[in-house]
Amino acid sequence: MSTLRFYAIKKSLNRKPIKIEEKERRSAIFGRNVFNEDEMRQYLTKEAFNSVMDAIQNGSKIDRGVADHISTGMKEWAISKGVTHYTHWFQPLTGSTAEKHDAFFEPIGNGRAIEKFGGGQLVQQEPDASSFPNGGIRNTFEARGYTAWDPTSPAFVYGTTLCIPTVFVSYTGEALDYKTPLLRALQAIDTAAVDVCKYFDKNVKKVNASLGWEQEYFLIDRGLAASRPDIQLTGRTLLGHSSAKGQQLDDHYFGTIPNRAMQYMRDLETECMLLGIPVKTRHNEVAPNQFELAPVYDEANLAVDHNSLLMDVMDKVAERHDFKVLFHEKPFKGVNGSGKHNNWSLSTNTGVNLLGPGKTPMSNLQFLTFFINTIKAVHDNEELVRASIASASNDHRLGANEAPPAIISVFIGEQLTSVLDELQNVTNGKLSPEEKTDLKLNVVGKIPEILLDNTDRNRTSPFAFTGNKFEFRAVGSTANCANPMTVLNTIVANQLIEFKKEVDVLIDNKSLKKDEAIFNILREYIKKSKNILFEGNGYGQAWEIEAKKRGLSNFKTTPEALKAKVSKKAIKLFEDMNVMNKVESVSRYEIEVEEYVLHIQIEGRVLGDIARNHIVPTAVRYQNILIENVKGLKEIYGTGFKKLAKEQMALIEEISGHIESINSNVTKMTNERKKANNLSDLELKAHAYCNLVKPFFDEIRYHCDKLELLVDDELWPLTKYRELLFTK
Ligand code: ADP
Ligand code: MG
Repeated sequence: MSTLRFYAIKKSLNRKPIKIEEKERRSAIFGRNVFNEDEMRQYLTKEAFNSVMDAIQNGSKIDRGVADHISTGMKEWAISKGVTHYTHWFQPLTGSTAEKHDAFFEPIGNGRAIEKFGGGQLVQQEPDASSFPNGGIRNTFEARGYTAWDPTSPAFVYGTTLCIPTVFVSYTGEALDYKTPLLRALQAIDTAAVDVCKYFDKNVKKVNASLGWEQEYFLIDRGLAASRPDIQLTGRTLLGHSSAKGQQLDDHYFGTIPNRAMQYMRDLETECMLLGIPVKTRHNEVAPNQFELAPVYDEANLAVDHNSLLMDVMDKVAERHDFKVLFHEKPFKGVNGSGKHNNWSLSTNTGVNLLGPGKTPMSNLQFLTFFINTIKAVHDNEELVRASIASASNDHRLGANEAPPAIISVFIGEQLTSVLDELQNVTNGKLSPEEKTDLKLNVVGKIPEILLDNTDRNRTSPFAFTGNKFEFRAVGSTANCANPMTVLNTIVANQLIEFKKEVDVLIDNKSLKKDEAIFNILREYIKKSKNILFEGNGYGQAWEIEAKKRGLSNFKTTPEALKAKVSKKAIKLFEDMNVMNKVESVSRYEIEVEEYVLHIQIEGRVLGDIARNHIVPTAVRYQNILIENVKGLKEIYGTGFKKLAKEQMALIEEISGHIESINSNVTKMTNERKKANNLSDLELKAHAYCNLVKPFFDEIRYHCDKLELLVDDELWPLTKYRELLFTK
């Protein structure tokens, strides 16, 4: 084993888990560092408190004068927690969170100072953020963007900083972040869903989208990770032969959590509790050193913020425990990758989950309405749904030999399939009293039992109904959930508006009763969106062929998939729903295409560097040892050496072959990269990187991985898979 590897592993094995002392109950510390309702009551004037609550519940504007009261209360609360600085906390399109800290401290002359935090500083800030991606918006319109307070996501204290969740927009109002379009999409679904709910219950005033994410990740010893330039720079291993033992024994899944990892999780969960992130589940995942963490679901905007915050906190806590968290969708070849299931549902202010079973036939018809409209929305917008989860790193899951496939389909289970089959046969137009009774008793009426029993799970489906929610499973582990959540809520909002129009036409023009009209439209929707329903094995070749026949898209790479974001249809949809204007849609698309290019470019550079500067020299060194050996044998045995040196000589040639292939492929890849870099058209560049540069990754990797098996372990410079994955 090389000295570097030896010491990295030795250090890792000698690390004692950091014992986490917990004296308080979790429920007692939950939300302690959040400026929540209780804290607001205590620190705000009545007027200020009511004003914030009104903004949260009804989206009303906060008066500047009142903002001064709020900021003062917030500051006092924060200072009581030892806070010295504040920051507007936002989610630019780089995929991580951004913050710029300012001190409360302010000198007032004569060597004195005070702590100050005015309403203006709370409500709006102008970060010098000209280097965040903006797809040309800011260049075209205005030089700078600003951040504005989002009162629907509570301020929190992290370390010694007060963090204020904000949106990030240009001076002309275009969104430069993930949160702005999400908030608009949540507004759209609220309005559209409330309108539809009115058919069933006039008391519904608000509908919230809820999100429960499940975050998968790998935990790798920090020292071992640092010994791999590919992990350091790209978050994944670009090469490495698979370990003799992998995940084939399934002995990690739901197994005992290793002690060091357990202490990390406890520490992480404590931090989450303080920040009001309601984490509930933790377990081992399929691959060695792979884990999952999931909270109780929450209102979607808050849940998205929590996930972004969590990823940041996970990194920070990992440092304390000498771990590195790998969020990448595919850090190890041949080993299970990581995703982030997005469990999604809609609930009303009257406490009803619109995707859950009800107690009366009418509430079950409501369930069917939302259920079928969601299916129709996904059917009509499957390309956009696919685009919402496209990224260079998620390409390793979708469309590769990994769950789920790049084809978007919806799984609903056997029993709901038969409910839809029955509904499909409902009479056109007016229903006879017998038919109505039959429908209510035997179809709609049975739904609660069916849903209770909906344990039928198909793990290969990218979008599955699981009893009282849809589970969007194709989301990548590195993704910001805002992207898929914006798309999902927008398409369903649009669909519900369409539905309402169609039902009203039947009621007004054909004088159908409300429930007859609803049955009629749902029947048509079932027929029209049948193609998206799939219950079989999503990984099989047969499905690819079948999906093609059904006209479903199958975009295996990001450059192909992203295109749907700027189709005429998508641009119009986002405009109609007031989620994004055309400039915003186009700029976002450009940012994502560019991000793809940069991603592959960096991977190409790192791989070329490791192959040429680490692997080839090591192989040459080992080859020289073999040559010395052959020379020695010749010296001693004269002409008889050939028989004795046969294997060594074959090995020398084999190594030469691999070195030759690595060098020529790295040269070819570099040339393709240069050509791609010279393309001025961004789309062409992305396609060149995808189809002409990236294919060399596998070629180069193949020969490097072969060398790993041939070369003396003592010389091998890179920490191996077995060491990365099995050091506990
Ligand atoms: P798994 O998918 O791992 O089998 P579950 O299906 O039990 O686990 O739940 C997964 C996630 O679904 C949890 O994080 C939970 O908070 C979330 N969830 C449950 N109900 C809802 C809902 N109505 N809306 C959104 N998310 C929900
Ligand atoms: Mg799940």
